Amino acid sequence: MTNALPNNPSLEQLKNQAKDILKAHKSGQDSACGTLKLLTKFEDDSDQEILSATVTLQEVQHALAMDYGFDSWDALRQAVAEMDSNSTIVSDEDRQVISLVDKLLTDAIESRASDLHFEPFENSYRVRFRTEGRLHEVKQAPVDLGPRIAARLKVMSGIDIAERRVPQHGHIKVKISESRAIDFRVHTLPVLFGEKISLRVLDTSSVRIGMDALGFERGQKKLFLEALHKPAGLLLVTGPTGSGTTVTLYTGITLLNKPELEIYTVEDPVEINLDGVNQCCVDLKVGLDYESALRSCLMQDPDILLVGEIRDLAIANLSIKAAQTGHLVLSSMQTNGVPETLMHLRGMGVSAFSLTRVVSLVTAQRLVRRLCPACRVPLDIPKNALIDAGFSEKDIDGGLQIFGPGDCDKCSGGYKGRVGIHEVVKITPEIARVIMEGGNASQIAEECQRAGFDNIMQSALRKVKQGHTSLDEVDRVAGPLAAKVAGALVNT
Ligand SMILES: [Zn+2]
Repeated sequence: MTNALPNNPSLEQLKNQAKDILKAHKSGQDSACGTLKLLTKFEDDSDQEILSATVTLQEVQHALAMDYGFDSWDALRQAVAEMDSNSTIVSDEDRQVISLVDKLLTDAIESRASDLHFEPFENSYRVRFRTEGRLHEVKQAPVDLGPRIAARLKVMSGIDIAERRVPQHGHIKVKISESRAIDFRVHTLPVLFGEKISLRVLDTSSVRIGMDALGFERGQKKLFLEALHKPAGLLLVTGPTGSGTTVTLYTGITLLNKPELEIYTVEDPVEINLDGVNQCCVDLKVGLDYESALRSCLMQDPDILLVGEIRDLAIANLSIKAAQTGHLVLSSMQTNGVPETLMHLRGMGVSAFSLTRVVSLVTAQRLVRRLCPACRVPLDIPKNALIDAGFSEKDIDGGLQIFGPGDCDKCSGGYKGRVGIHEVVKITPEIARVIMEGGNASQIAEECQRAGFDNIMQSALRKVKQGHTSLDEVDRVAGPLAAKVAGALVNT
């Protein structure tokens, strides 16, 4: 809060405030980037634009309220009134922290970060962002600023700031235009030297990327859409944390989201808010666990259910029962591949009969960074190394060209965005037979190969062949494949 802001400011005073913000921005202090953008309507408009009559009182008030972390002008006024009655004096340091946190949130949105980490250590305070799956440091702050940054984030997310001994969670909404707001899910964790705070960016626009941006190969896309448009069955999207399964599931739900279908989700927590979908958030504090939430949704006449994650036998059986009784059920599991997923369900205690009858499609996925098309570099890799990597003679003789990352001002380190690599398996009668006969993961994998379903590695190599990603990326997310190739490159 600033003591420069009077209790009941006039338009003139607000405009002066806007001018100060602009001045601070221009002098490099960049104290209120978000406000500035609102005021200037995102463009490089001149100072005149801000101060002209086109900016209404409400707009300036709203912008200022957002700048100070309030939902509305009324909330800000109330806080100012309380501040006056307590005659609290806000220090320059507090203002510095508010600006710093605002700037970090704005920077995170601009750099399309997925997670923000605020980490206190004995002699330092570190802020890191995860962008395109990789963590990098964005700020080192003086260690004594740590508790203030934590307090500011807790105030913004509605978390009890006095409680520092137990983990808490909350929520921040940052409005970046009239039609677009970005939500952050906030978690605190007491650690040795203070409170570690993590923010997950929940950007609803990520689920509107559309089917084609998910990275399915043509045949895989067809299988996925077929299973998605069946009136019943269980469709599983699996992969480790951070492999993009949520976006794939939400993209599916977005395609199904029509007025004639009743859709429910049970999630912990609700990742992305979708209009027209009944999203139920698991809340253990009040005893609403996955199982009871799912049972309640089933009583609500659903057509389609999204079960956030199948974690145990009870959820698995409920999902299967729902799928068996005429519902389309979508869910995810944190497993590595399709055969492993089927084995994991068997291990949980799901019967082979249920699996083969109800599961219509299982997919596994990873995310790889996409090579920047403007600067990718063709690599000259010896034939034997390519064979080792898993390419066929036919691939190589057909003029295979592998690319690596370059460097230009349009990308970061030669990569730009990410793309999914998928294993998509429809449970054919032959695969069902292997499961019924008690086959293990490798026997199921063999049958999947016979049926012509590419595994993760084969799909990854396809993306390399198409020039969309590098062998290093495939190696990073899908296993030690490119090491041999890298070795061969060094020797040439
Ligand atoms: Zn580039």
